[in-house]
Amino acid sequence: MDDSDVLIVGGGVVGSTLALLLGEANWRVTIIDASPAPEGNETVGQGKPALRVSALTATSQRLLMALDVWPWLASRRVSAYHGMQVWDAEGSGEIGFDADEVGVDALGHIVENELLLAALARRLESLPNVEWLREATLTGYTRDNDVDREGARNAGHAVITLDNGEQRRAPLIVGADGANSPLRTMAGIPVSERDTGQAAVVTTVRTDVGHGGVARQAFLATGPLAFLPLTIDGRDDHCSIVWSTTPGEARRLTALGDSDEGRAQLGIELARGLGGRLGDVEVIDAAPHFPITQRHAQRYVDEGLALIGDAAHSLHPLAGQGVNLGLMDAAVLAEEWIRARQRGAPPGDRRILVRYERRRRGENAAMLAAMQGFQRLFGSRQPALRLARNWGLSGVDRLMPIKRLLIRQALGEYGDLPERCR
Ligand SMILES: Cc1cc2nc3c(=O)[nH]c(=O)nc-3n(C[C@H](O)[C@H](O)[C@H](O)COP(=O)(O)OP(=O)(O)OC[C@H]3O[C@@H](n4cnc5c(N)ncnc54)[C@H](O)[C@@H]3O)c2cc1C
Repeated sequence: MDDSDVLIVGGGVVGSTLALLLGEANWRVTIIDASPAPEGNETVGQGKPALRVSALTATSQRLLMALDVWPWLASRRVSAYHGMQVWDAEGSGEIGFDADEVGVDALGHIVENELLLAALARRLESLPNVEWLREATLTGYTRDNDVDREGARNAGHAVITLDNGEQRRAPLIVGADGANSPLRTMAGIPVSERDTGQAAVVTTVRTDVGHGGVARQAFLATGPLAFLPLTIDGRDDHCSIVWSTTPGEARRLTALGDSDEGRAQLGIELARGLGGRLGDVEVIDAAPHFPITQRHAQRYVDEGLALIGDAAHSLHPLAGQGVNLGLMDAAVLAEEWIRARQRGAPPGDRRILVRYERRRRGENAAMLAAMQGFQRLFGSRQPALRLARNWGLSGVDRLMPIKRLLIRQALGEYGDLPERCR
């Protein structure tokens, strides 16, 4: 006897969104996550901003709107940005984008990850057909392929074991369990991996000069430094920092974050890295770092199984696209499965899973390749490449049609968009 229609391993932003999409369509969903429940709705999104944030595109926002997640989120704390400035700190190239250039209000929103998780959990709690297993770790996965009376092999079932010894079973299973996806490993799906030679330091700062709703990114010799604008209590003097640099440098910057003196020094280095554009910088939080490895699963699907989000692909944070791509995976997979069921076709049918993979893999691969290209171009000390990037950024800045195209990309408006994101 099945416990549900689908088991979703991983209740991060991507897994929770898939659970909501399927749960709303009356699927019986079991979602399993190793971590405890997010902080209570009372405190989250108040006071000091959380360390981990995501830049959500307009397309992701539309999906969260369709799922009725956005209004609560927006009533708490989201920071709209209408401009973007990107420049080469080693040269003269610079490009700027503005929402006005394509007639939209905002290019995107910065959202605290824990707030987004709480908003999704809040909606999921209202669905009686969604079961949450928290603080439950996946430790085993097999498929039992039943043989019916005529001897035909049917699609079979996923059987998982949790760390408390409990077993769960369903015809479909989804790996939304992050970049190191245990389910992907247990299913024997190979992954291509590229160490970027960088780590990302994150922290939160207060700046002398208001950010004015503009996201800024300087390409330094060691990697990109991003100042993501946060609006706190109506004031525009906070930014979330993502500083990608060499692992040794990342360790040094993290150590600076551990003391008052160190944080003062880190503020000086951040202000210098940004070329003083926001004046003095005060670091108001710790500065942990994360390794940056680009990974791409060689297959997104297996018998009755699909990978979504970071379990399928993880990429350099320089374009802030990880969550956005993962949300599109969730929306496309849900669309394919819900349509299949409406037609009376088994959602586990290999052709349906392959269609999901075909709709998502190319787009994700293109983004992974673009991140690699950017990193090479801006990491290069070759004079010809440096000239090309200076000319390239400033040249594109003057070419409106190409700029509009890039802005549409930043808004997430490209490719084969699922219906709920249009
Ligand atoms: C420094 C940094 C900055 C970033 N900035 C941005 C940005 O601005 N915009 C953006 O779009 N993306 C950004 N990203 C990328 C983004 O954080 C990821 O793409 C996103 O978190 C992936 O979501 P996910 O739900 O797929 O995976 P995760 O968030 O990793 O969630 C996986 C879940 O699976 C659970 N899990 C794992 N193993 C098990 C197990 N064995 N059993 C049960 N549960 C398990 C975990 O507890 C976790 O909750 C950034 C990444 C980094 C490192």
